[in-house]
Amino acid sequence: MSMPYDILIIGGGIQGAGCAQAAAAAGYSVAVLEKYDRPGLGTSCKSSKLIHGGLRYLETAQIRLVHECLYERSLLIRNAPHLVKLEPFYIPVYKNSLRKPWLIWLGLALYTLLSGKGFKRIPKKKWATLDGLSTKGLLAVFKYYDGQTDDQRLTESVMRSAQQLGAEFISSAELISAQCDTGLCKALYRQGGEQKQISASVIINAAGPWANRVLQNITPRPPLPDMDLVLGTHIVVPGALEQGMYYMEAPQDQRAVFVLSRPDGIMIGTTETAFHGSPDRVEPPESDIEYLIEVYNHYFQNAISRSDVKRAFAGLRVLPTGGDAFSRSRDIMIHSDAINPQVFTVYGGKLTAYRATGERVMKLIKPLLPERKQQADVKRLSLP
Ligand SMILES: Cc1cc2nc3c(=O)[nH]c(=O)nc-3n(C[C@H](O)[C@H](O)[C@H](O)COP(=O)(O)OP(=O)(O)OC[C@H]3O[C@@H](n4cnc5c(N)ncnc54)[C@H](O)[C@@H]3O)c2cc1C
Repeated sequence: MSMPYDILIIGGGIQGAGCAQAAAAAGYSVAVLEKYDRPGLGTSCKSSKLIHGGLRYLETAQIRLVHECLYERSLLIRNAPHLVKLEPFYIPVYKNSLRKPWLIWLGLALYTLLSGKGFKRIPKKKWATLDGLSTKGLLAVFKYYDGQTDDQRLTESVMRSAQQLGAEFISSAELISAQCDTGLCKALYRQGGEQKQISASVIINAAGPWANRVLQNITPRPPLPDMDLVLGTHIVVPGALEQGMYYMEAPQDQRAVFVLSRPDGIMIGTTETAFHGSPDRVEPPESDIEYLIEVYNHYFQNAISRSDVKRAFAGLRVLPTGGDAFSRSRDIMIHSDAINPQVFTVYGGKLTAYRATGERVMKLIKPLLPERKQQADVKRLSLP
């Protein structure tokens, strides 16, 4: 068997890529096992593709998360201008909206304070120019800015950056099991019909919705934290938005739903549906597709129907168990346990905050590894 790595990462989604980049930048030797043939083909290509602070998390007082994400947004706009762009977003407020204009104003004022990028109210005479937005019962429209990306390309780019710093990305490689003792974890993985071995001092389990499945194959097995998988669907319909993106309140349940411009049409999402199956089989439920069509048709004059849906896709959020999905924390959760202190599991979190997550994981791991010479400062590193 080859020399042990300092760190073995399971999963080449955005969190695995972010941890690989942070680890290689800190001077550690690091390898990533990913069961698909490219990075970012799990949850990290099924997101809303926003690089955002998450305006709506202010409602549930997740100020630390919003602040962190807005800071990461500013770094990404500087370090990856080819992948992350600020776009105008509109929030229309109607007579029947649960969130009144003063509340939106307050939220946006706080968002401006945290991001340094302002917002404004669109005068009534301009409402008719807003991509067929219904003006019946419309009280106010606010405009602010947030970031948009291609989530899979971003994940590939972060992984490439990690590789440029010396990380090894091992694709089409599925972890089968790992055994940890006296400072060394020996792992077995499957690649092209063959079983191979790899070893490292520390394991970062960044397997997203598969994280607890991965933990079940690690001995000694740390306790499995209770996590729920919550499915989010997006649909894409033909058309284009000329003015920007729209942030709507779903008439059915007052959740936030985005209407976004994508190269292949208008993307509408997302939903929050409890999920109990295998993360290998995630399909957008028909009821989610209908829900999103209803939201769009409630607010836009050019109605769409089921046959307009060109494609639909769904991804799984990993959320702490309990309460309704909408109000549960979206912050990253990093678990380690005395039963197997060499294993760190990363649950949930935002695409936007992958760098901050990598930094946090490295702080926790540092005491377990020898001193290494730092190679780069990720905050200042341009993405390839
Ligand atoms: C519907 C939805 C919308 C979202 N929208 C946004 C948004 O707009 N902005 C934002 O910032 N965040 C958003 N998020 C959050 C963000 O997308 C996710 O938190 C993030 O993509 C999770 O990344 P991950 O690396 O943890 O998981 P994943 O991307 O799922 O990566 C896990 C990887 O592990 C691999 N793997 C699993 N088991 C094994 C094994 N045994 N061996 C080898 N590899 C294995 C998988 O193949 C996979 O590639 C959204 C999430 C969802 C679900």
